[in-house]
Amino acid sequence: MLIPIAVVVVAASVYATAKDALCPIPSKHIHFDYHPGSHDDPFHWYDLDKDTHCCNGSNQSPIDIPSGDAVCYPLGGIEYEPKGDVSGILKMNGHGANLAFFENERLVTKDIPFSDGEYVLGSMHFHSPSEHLVNGKHMDGELHLVHYKKEYGSVAGAVDKADGLAVIGVFLMVVGESVNQAFNTFVDEVAHLKVGESEEVTLDPNELLVLDNDYYTYKGSLTTPPCSESVRWVLMVLPLLTTEDRIRVLRAVPVSGGEPLSVDTNDRPTQPLNNRTVLVSC
Ligand SMILES: [Zn+2]
Repeated sequence: MLIPIAVVVVAASVYATAKDALCPIPSKHIHFDYHPGSHDDPFHWYDLDKDTHCCNGSNQSPIDIPSGDAVCYPLGGIEYEPKGDVSGILKMNGHGANLAFFENERLVTKDIPFSDGEYVLGSMHFHSPSEHLVNGKHMDGELHLVHYKKEYGSVAGAVDKADGLAVIGVFLMVVGESVNQAFNTFVDEVAHLKVGESEEVTLDPNELLVLDNDYYTYKGSLTTPPCSESVRWVLMVLPLLTTEDRIRVLRAVPVSGGEPLSVDTNDRPTQPLNNRTVLVSC
């Protein structure tokens, strides 16, 4: 009997977090950057606009995941339907490169933990080094697959709803070879991309999930303004393995102002965990 009781207590604590700060997408363009000491750096994001006050909330992301404190919880795997390739448009956006999937091709998953309904894969982008830390350590990069709850129609429609968004994070780790075809396709297209241009890209996002993998999950926020606390985070425990050359391609992408990411990174500093619980599937 002890194990079921423990599970119920953990489940209750997952929902008993502080009130979420839910900001909409600002109505006008908000400039922000990562350059320490600038007026628009991450320590000033909460004050850029009335709609970015969420950046000062108590359930923010990214976090430093204390793997030893993550609570084991029975969670299912995540898969997209339908299976197979999906296409979209890749563009640089001043903070990296973003692949926005075509609306009529978008895949869905029903497997986001602690959420009912379908979540639609809207876009993917990367950070380097990783935004989330595990036991105080960065990985070489982190892919973000951004989803909105289908009933809200779009990211803009979902961003100010408590259960509006889900982001799957896939850590990137440098080893001797890069065998993940979907990731290699993404990097090859980023390598050819020029500022102001766009490329059509086709890949299979299921390949990025490193299937049969366990994941961490917690309730947090967007890691860029407006920092809305509407995100169910799913972070794959095992990293996607790649090479130094491919990470170098990602870090050569210029941010607004012209410096490459290797000089002016695009990772927000970690935020306090506060009273949140990180679960790990098991
Ligand atoms: Zn991101």
